[in-house]
Amino acid sequence: AAKNDGRGRARTFNRSMMIMLEQRELLRRSLRVALQEQQFFIEYQPLVEIADGIIGFEALLRWRHPYAGVVPPSLFIPMAEADGLMGDIGAWVLENACRQASTWPSHFIVSVNLSPAEFLIGGFTDRVAEILDQVGLEADRLELEITETVLLERTTNNLDTLHTLEVLGTRIALDDFGTRYSSLSYLQNFPFDTIKIDKHFINDVETNPRSQTIVRFIIGLAHGLGMRVTAEGVETAGQAAWLGRKKCDRLQGTFLGAPMSAEAIGDFLRQSSFEML
Ligand code: C2E
Ligand code: MG
Ligand code: MG
Ligand code: MG
Repeated sequence: AAKNDGRGRARTFNRSMMIMLEQRELLRRSLRVALQEQQFFIEYQPLVEIADGIIGFEALLRWRHPYAGVVPPSLFIPMAEADGLMGDIGAWVLENACRQASTWPSHFIVSVNLSPAEFLIGGFTDRVAEILDQVGLEADRLELEITETVLLERTTNNLDTLHTLEVLGTRIALDDFGTRYSSLSYLQNFPFDTIKIDKHFINDVETNPRSQTIVRFIIGLAHGLGMRVTAEGVETAGQAAWLGRKKCDRLQGTFLGAPMSAEAIGDFLRQSSFEML
């Protein structure tokens, strides 16, 4: 009986694996037409400067699949990267987010995430300049978010690209800091505007002394290098207050505002006040 059980389990396991693989394969194939079929849309999440209130929004990509519903970026962006689709998709996000931002009050910035593939494409900086020009957005109203993974590859080219963007006048944020292969050498070599502390460290920052030490360290490191700090994933008033006491500059998270459609931004701005900070 044990033997049968074992085989049965193995068969079940294989079958569910098969179903999973087939679904991924289906998703992957439909990803190829998602751009043409206009299935992508962007949500915007408020970025709040503790001293000044809302300073802008981060653009977060969504895919409304005709049958599967809204697929999270953590699932489809790696597929798009593996299939070489992230160049085109990234260009779409950049153009649409910049066009949207050009309709906002002129002191608001838009922050756009870049995937490694996009950043490494030749002519990326020309494309950024072209889009800004086309939609009429000042360069310093665009913040580009890159992760440590981007900086792992082809270091000299990466630094060249970063410096070209700096000359162009865009802001650069280092996203998800501390979650990957953190190397302090690129902090020595490049002046980021902002370091974003991953939500992983913010989660339990009120109660976990280890998280507190790490967050305090990142804030001190950033300020020592003349950079600002954004805390991601701020969900409670207690977290916001703790971060304020430790002189974190900016907050982002559901406590300040969840990602919302472009159309919802007007109402959000009318209703929001951040006096609690
Ligand atoms: P990210 O850039 O670190 O974005 C922050 C993520 O935290 C978003 O997840 C956001 O919805 C989520 N978040 C916001 N507030 C809270 C909170 O209070 N609590 C928690 N637990 N989570 C919160 P999302 O939208 O699922 O995006 C996941 C990742 O996908 C992003 O992480 C980013 O790396 C990537 N991504 C999203 N849009 C794009 C894009 O247009 N291009 C590229 N290359 N990557 C993108
Ligand atoms: Mg980001
Ligand atoms: Mg992040
Ligand atoms: Mg993240």
